[in-house]
Amino acid sequence: MELLSVIVPCYNEEENVPYFYEELMKQEAFFHGKEVELEIIYVNDGSKDHTVEEVKKLHERDERVHLVSFSRNFGKEAAIYAGLRKAKGDYAVLMDADLQDPPSLLPEMFGYVEEGYDSVATRRVNRKGEPVIRSFFARRFYGLMRRISKTEIVDGARDYRLMTRQYVDAVLSLCEYNRFVKGIYGWVGFETKWIEYENIERAKGETKWSFWKLLKYSFDGIVAFSTAPLALASIFGIFFCVLAFLLIIFIIIRTAVFGDPVSGWPSLVCIISMIGGVQLFCLGVLGQYLSKTYMEVKKRPIYIVKEEL
Ligand code: UDP
Ligand code: MG
Repeated sequence: MELLSVIVPCYNEEENVPYFYEELMKQEAFFHGKEVELEIIYVNDGSKDHTVEEVKKLHERDERVHLVSFSRNFGKEAAIYAGLRKAKGDYAVLMDADLQDPPSLLPEMFGYVEEGYDSVATRRVNRKGEPVIRSFFARRFYGLMRRISKTEIVDGARDYRLMTRQYVDAVLSLCEYNRFVKGIYGWVGFETKWIEYENIERAKGETKWSFWKLLKYSFDGIVAFSTAPLALASIFGIFFCVLAFLLIIFIIIRTAVFGDPVSGWPSLVCIISMIGGVQLFCLGVLGQYLSKTYMEVKKRPIYIVKEEL
């Protein structure tokens, strides 16, 4: 018998935990037919509701249900990492607790793995039911990422992904502190099959991502997988040097031809504040990378486990 580990990060998902289990079990017959055993790993990311109790209830009923419970909220990336570490399966699949990653796709995904793909990834073709500004910025983010990062990051890609053991081990071998799994997937390589589906709205509860949390997440993603912003300072620097050089020539000629009346201080103020702004901006970019490097150098654990089943 082979084993498939289903990893479910949960943050305040008490209603979805049992519901997810029921929906997943509808696929059990298919996997039974393929001689594949299931194991379900709920990763509790410091929930403040009864998520842990719900998982324990399931564990009593079904010993294939496991739990990793964090000491506080460490974020979804940490939960994914913890789940993948805990997974013992020959295959592993990551799914959201809110059923936005439909279990009904699993048989099709498994088919591709059997065909020889190392991972089967999903992307949603639309963002139905999502705020318009959020979709807009999400698109810009993926567009920007494609241009400034060497790693391929697919627009609309979900974390919902079925992986072989070899692929899981590759993902786990990147033990960086600032994790951005969408980038890591691309970075590790291997053959990936993409499946598309229409966006599904969350089953129960509320999304855990505010606009600002997403914005910060996108900055983290850029810093983690691109060093292009670091080159900005040099580009601005060269631009302003050339500009200054041309201005000097212009002013010398003008002074020689028209004399030197004292005027033009407003334009000076504008130029000084603009260059000051650019300098501060570049310093800020540098600071972003420095702070990430600082956190990385500390070698803090990615998560801390309080309880495990
Ligand atoms: N999640 C988590 N830790 C967090 C935020 C979210 O483990 O800090 C989990 C959450 O429980 C869910 C999944 O990540 O299973 C996706 O979160 P959500 O549905 O809120 O995001 P969205 O689908 O709106 O992007
Ligand atoms: Mg969701």
